[in-house]
Amino acid sequence: MDAVFEKIDNRVDELVELTRDLIRFPTINPPGEAYRPCAEYIGDRLKKRGFVVEYVRGVGTPGDCDRYPRTNIVARKEGAKPGPCVHFNGHIDVVEVGDGWTVDPFEGLVEDGKVYGRGACDMKGGIASAIIAAEALIDTDPNFPGAIEISGTVDEESGGYGGVAYLAERGWFSKPRVDHVIIPEPLNVDRVCIGHRGVWWAEIETKGRIAHGSMPFLGDSAIRHMSAVLERFENDLYPTLSARHSDMPVVPDGARSSTMNINSVHGGQEEGHEGLPAPCVADSCRMIIDRRFLIEESLDDVRGEVRELLEEVARTRPDFRFDLRELFAVEPSLADKDAPVASTTAAAIREILKREPEFICSPGTYDQKHVDRIGKLKDCIAYGPGVLDLAHQPDEWVGIEDMTSAAKVMALTTARLLGQVE
Ligand SMILES: [Zn+2]
Repeated sequence: MDAVFEKIDNRVDELVELTRDLIRFPTINPPGEAYRPCAEYIGDRLKKRGFVVEYVRGVGTPGDCDRYPRTNIVARKEGAKPGPCVHFNGHIDVVEVGDGWTVDPFEGLVEDGKVYGRGACDMKGGIASAIIAAEALIDTDPNFPGAIEISGTVDEESGGYGGVAYLAERGWFSKPRVDHVIIPEPLNVDRVCIGHRGVWWAEIETKGRIAHGSMPFLGDSAIRHMSAVLERFENDLYPTLSARHSDMPVVPDGARSSTMNINSVHGGQEEGHEGLPAPCVADSCRMIIDRRFLIEESLDDVRGEVRELLEEVARTRPDFRFDLRELFAVEPSLADKDAPVASTTAAAIREILKREPEFICSPGTYDQKHVDRIGKLKDCIAYGPGVLDLAHQPDEWVGIEDMTSAAKVMALTTARLLGQVE
């Protein structure tokens, strides 16, 4: 492996340039800008190393159209003899820029050992590390056993339907094609992420009856009905949720409990063009909740808990009527930390970084859910160089030293999973 590590050390400039090039594609999602040129850039590079490159468009998935095609790239390099396949999967999409930047988000500024830009940390730095790791391995030993795959997929930030989910449904993330998957999401260079909590998004609507605002007693306010729901949330549901703790090693600590965010509340008639209020009693009020749940909870219990609470309000509060609509649901995902990819990555971290690796779970979800649920492939983790807290923030950056270390960890892990080295 010394020859591989030496190559990675000698190619730090190339690693930085590759990261900058990837950042310069403004792959903002939504709408899904510049996906195809970014995918082709990765494909063209890997073709030169003898990878067989395929482009798979998520036809008909949310947002897919000729102006914004959901173009994924999957590259495979076959070794000299049969063996397992290690797959690196990175999403090429980034979230919107937002306010507060002091540098150009798509220039790829390099300063003080960091590369700045939207997607630097989440997760173009991780993709670049994986590419450099794979190339260094292949250049050192072209006769490696098994196969190495690298994919750049779309739409992770909006659920992954046109990306990993689409590919997984078509067998790209299943045995016998693939055995081990590493997703270089930014979860810190010394941590192995083995899963994530579940998600349940729902919309609650309370119903009222419209009337003149000067005579509210002639109507029925949907907003006041919603306040009864909020009161039950505050008094009953929130204390119950925060008392529930998981054995999953979710970070940060607050996310080891069940949580619920109230994403939005909309009630009443809209204000007019001049901002003049509508003098009416609200006949509808809608609230969107984002419930994150633990592996110890079932999705059905999560749904039932909120429905039960609403039905209780309906039993005690006159004229209370509601609708409950599910918007999105994802089951929690948890890989075995003693399984090959997690334990091999952890050992590599120990050797390269001389630090004790930490096994963690992500507070949010990422594409592992599709590999696990659709591809039925359990041997999947997230491991990458970025700092988790910087994801989606202004002035996002990735550290060059972390990218270099992560590339070495990825290379050593791959060589061991392929059976190339002990
Ligand atoms: Zn990400």
